[in-house]
Amino acid sequence: MLNFTVGPVMSKADVLEIGGQSSPYFRTTEFSNVMLENERLMLDFLNAPADSRCIFLTTSGTGAMESCVMNLLGHDDKAIVINGGSFGQRFVELCELHDRKYTEIKCEFGRQIKAKQLEKYSGCGYTTLLVNMGETSSGTLYDMQLIADFCHREHIFLIVDAISSFIADELDMSALGAGAVITGSQKALAVHPGIALVALSPEALERVNRNDEICMYLSMKRALKNGDRGQTPFTPAVTTLLEINARLKGLKIAGGVAIEHKLIVQRSIEFRKFIRCMPKSPFEFVSESMSNAVTSLHPKNVSATSIFNTMKE
Ligand SMILES: *Cc1c(COP(=O)(O)O)cnc(C)c1O
Repeated sequence: MLNFTVGPVMSKADVLEIGGQSSPYFRTTEFSNVMLENERLMLDFLNAPADSRCIFLTTSGTGAMESCVMNLLGHDDKAIVINGGSFGQRFVELCELHDRKYTEIKCEFGRQIKAKQLEKYSGCGYTTLLVNMGETSSGTLYDMQLIADFCHREHIFLIVDAISSFIADELDMSALGAGAVITGSQKALAVHPGIALVALSPEALERVNRNDEICMYLSMKRALKNGDRGQTPFTPAVTTLLEINARLKGLKIAGGVAIEHKLIVQRSIEFRKFIRCMPKSPFEFVSESMSNAVTSLHPKNVSATSIFNTMKE
């Protein structure tokens, strides 16, 4: 069966071959070299600022979101959370759970964020902004330039959940001035689930050092210290990391993420055209600003199950 979901997605043959092997022992120079290469390639593909780092956490994407809230936000920080769906809501719940000060900007499901929603909070002492670049629940891609400009003007540290957007949508960490960018193994990286990646700017590294360490497993301090020599503090999802290495090297050989990005854009255009051209189309598009990663459809007079079964066939 073809899998059209946002993740896990189908993997290429070379990745699947790695997935079928036993995991090697990982406290070795060979594995350290793989990890150091993974870090270099990720920072390169994200166009991260000089002296940034990338850490690899063995967790789903949500673990990296939680790690960001625990390690990058202190009790003195005042955060803005953009909440336009279930992933925005997840950041809200994480701030709540970890007792971080926050204000949420609610975006209507499937709607783009507007300048005036942000401007309301201008000059109010906010220090951090959390956003899901692609709010996958509605398939919405936020206007990152608008958000980045606001953060730049207000000297606000920007944390970007690009879990579904990396590769699928245009993303340049330096151009955005983002302090942290999160992605995951099972979306457009197209390998098995199990690894979440966080790129950290020098300012993010300062925050990690400044804040108290309040957890062990998701501690960025520990991940960074071990990462210096290409290692992780605990047993990682070794095979998924080897798959990531094959995938990143494949992208590098193909000339970077641009070509893969184009393929995804092309596929989304074709799919959306197909949906629009369906006779008596049973669907409406949910989002006014669609990410290339996912096409969110609202069914008219049909059940989701019957749509799923039609698509499956
Ligand atoms: C998939 C996704 C996540 C993480 O989900 P997990 O199930 O924890 O991997 C987080 N944010 C966004 C925007 C996503 O698309």
